[in-house]
Amino acid sequence: MDTLHFKDEFETQNVRVVRHCIGSFGVNTYFMISKKTRETAVIDPGGVADALLAALKDEKAQVSRILFTHTHIDHIYAADELKRALPGARITYHIKDQPVIESLPDMCRMFGVPCRTMPPMDCDLAKEPEFSVGELQVRSILTPGHTPGGVCFYIAEEKLCFTGDTLFKGSVGRTDFEGGSGFELRKSLLHLLDVLPDDVQILPGHGKYTAMGREKDSNFYLKVDKWR
Ligand SMILES: [Zn+2]
Ligand SMILES: [Zn+2]
Repeated sequence: MDTLHFKDEFETQNVRVVRHCIGSFGVNTYFMISKKTRETAVIDPGGVADALLAALKDEKAQVSRILFTHTHIDHIYAADELKRALPGARITYHIKDQPVIESLPDMCRMFGVPCRTMPPMDCDLAKEPEFSVGELQVRSILTPGHTPGGVCFYIAEEKLCFTGDTLFKGSVGRTDFEGGSGFELRKSLLHLLDVLPDDVQILPGHGKYTAMGREKDSNFYLKVDKWR
């Protein structure tokens, strides 16, 4: 894993969002920090655990959850080390991603990286799709297609949605990995179009930020009138 590392941050009324992009996968790891209480969710801990832990300390973050939009190797790379350092943080993902976890050794071989394991699940989004981080209400939206248990994390009050590898600026996730489905991804994108207002900020698993309205206007994969 190389040491490519950039960081940026912004704030809404109640949330501080810090993004780190560390390592060769180019995954966006987010800290969603309650400005009031510093209670924090780490979303998709890819990259280098030591760097993430140091950054969390700088933020005085109280990490109560580690959230996974899905469990591909780039999004879980630092999960085990992070959980060991933060045993109180609840490992939260959707059980339908279990086959993806079982295929991790194959995926690691394919990418030529050391295999990493997922820490045991503390919270299954199939059973508890909504939860809170401090005073922030988080709703997970099941969006299969890139993986069977892929989810988006939507904080309606703050107009933020973490979309993982389901929706990117100008693109969508690939569907040719284990458990992927173009048919399911289309259904998930239609669902997001129904659920997310135009002014919701989209925070994807890779690449730049965007807004739902902008994607509706410019993302080829969301021009789905013909699918309905
Ligand atoms: Zn992925
Ligand atoms: Zn990814």
